[in-house]
Amino acid sequence: MAEAEFDCVVIGAGPGGYVAAIRAAQLGMKTAVVEKDTVGGRCLNYACIPAKAVLRSADLASEAREAGEFGVNVGEVSIDFDAVQKRREKVISTLTGGVAGLFKKNGIESIAGEASLAPSGGAGGTGGGGAGSEGDGPIGVIVDGRQLTARTVILATGSVRRSIPGVELGGPIIGTEEAWALAKLPKRLAVVGAGASGAEIASGYARLGSEVMLIEVAERVLPAEDADISRLVERGLKRQGMQVMTGTTIEDVQAGKDSVRFSHGSGEAVEVDRLVIAAGRAPDSDSLGLAQAGVELDERGCVQVDGAQRTSRAGVYAIGDLVRGPALAHKASDEGVIAVEDAAGRQTHPLSYVDIPRATFCTPNVGSFGLTEEQAREQDHEVVVGKVPYGAVGGGTVYGDRTGLVKVIGDARYGELLGGHIVGSRATELIQELVNIRMLEGGFPELARIVHGHPTLSEAVMEAGRAADGWLIHG
Ligand SMILES: Cc1cc2nc3c(=O)[nH]c(=O)nc-3n(C[C@H](O)[C@H](O)[C@H](O)COP(=O)(O)OP(=O)(O)OC[C@H]3O[C@@H](n4cnc5c(N)ncnc54)[C@H](O)[C@@H]3O)c2cc1C
Repeated sequence: MAEAEFDCVVIGAGPGGYVAAIRAAQLGMKTAVVEKDTVGGRCLNYACIPAKAVLRSADLASEAREAGEFGVNVGEVSIDFDAVQKRREKVISTLTGGVAGLFKKNGIESIAGEASLAPSGGAGGTGGGGAGSEGDGPIGVIVDGRQLTARTVILATGSVRRSIPGVELGGPIIGTEEAWALAKLPKRLAVVGAGASGAEIASGYARLGSEVMLIEVAERVLPAEDADISRLVERGLKRQGMQVMTGTTIEDVQAGKDSVRFSHGSGEAVEVDRLVIAAGRAPDSDSLGLAQAGVELDERGCVQVDGAQRTSRAGVYAIGDLVRGPALAHKASDEGVIAVEDAAGRQTHPLSYVDIPRATFCTPNVGSFGLTEEQAREQDHEVVVGKVPYGAVGGGTVYGDRTGLVKVIGDARYGELLGGHIVGSRATELIQELVNIRMLEGGFPELARIVHGHPTLSEAVMEAGRAADGWLIHG
């Protein structure tokens, strides 16, 4: 078997793997990335990026429909779905081409093929060490019969779609990635699961003109978000003309060639063109040969890692959707940086998962981080809440969104900013300010006194800090 030696081999070129590879190259490691599909991973090719590209078209369609209120007449809005999809493809190829360019610029070898770890004890690997144990030899990686060796291997193979009990994916029953790449605009679409992905698909297609049904087993949409935010999102989604059913399950699912029949709630039967299952994801680790290589899984089937992303096999790290924590692209990238910096002997610190920003790009937009009000109360904080509608500041009225809301959760004892929750225009951008304040060890009293530009929506974020601190000016 032909051998090639590297300091670092990364398996998977998604946002976890490609960022890890670039950081490894910056740190002077001779680096290769192995990808079995397309550079950029699922994030750039099928998930985050295509979703947001199609949602941007939906956003423009809604803005055009509302333009008359601003004195701008655009006539009747119609959707050219072929053009929407062509733009999606162009956005993807621009960004994946950018990643390929970064590999070249950083001297990273890009290898096409499916990789697995060589069994421990064979192919140069000794294995068996506990997390972070030092001094083991090179690790073998096999790619389509070719052998690579490296002192550091980063597993970054991401996750795959999963279904719900009794429903088999296939034909007109599709996952969230396929939902953004449909050849034809569906006339009727049902989405099961009103988490971030499900809410985005429902909101996107409803505004592009499909008749949409959003079904969620929990009692509210976006069940992981703060209850106030869920309430406003549900109201906003309904305003887009879709049917939202919470506390509801589906049954008797029967797939035809180009349609799906199922029943829900009271037993009412419906037929739709496509049924989207947005029920979360499972780690993609089957092809990696983990057991023979001495890499252990945790009780949920994720690769077990410590705070520096080290697995149970010395020199092997795992990052992104393959490991615990929220399945988010920016989380994967940050873990990639932590892993290679640890491998290079740099001091790293574990990610605080609760403080990672969460963004949902449905309309209304949602951005959040940290604890919800309910979680803060359960954890016995001395909870203070600052809530300010966008309409309280000039920007909300000027830009035409008075219904948005900023909610900050603090601890009265220390002024600590425990969580931030924003719903409304540009919430996905606005949330970053609150994360930054927390990361720089500021609290809501500091937020309240930072000068903000006028008239901006960010003034509502500042006012929420003031509300928590007891001196709301506008409201
Ligand atoms: C519809 C949808 C929308 C989303 N939107 C967002 C969003 O807006 N923001 C956000 O932060 N997150 C979003 N996510 C989540 C985000 O896509 C993931 O968290 C992110 O892609 C994880 O990155 P990763 O690098 O771990 O893996 P991935 O992006 O899954 O990449 C892993 C790569 O590894 C490759 N691979 C797998 N096995 C092997 C092997 N044996 N050999 C070689 N290559 C292999 C795969 O082909 C793949 O290209 C979304 C997810 C979905 C499904």
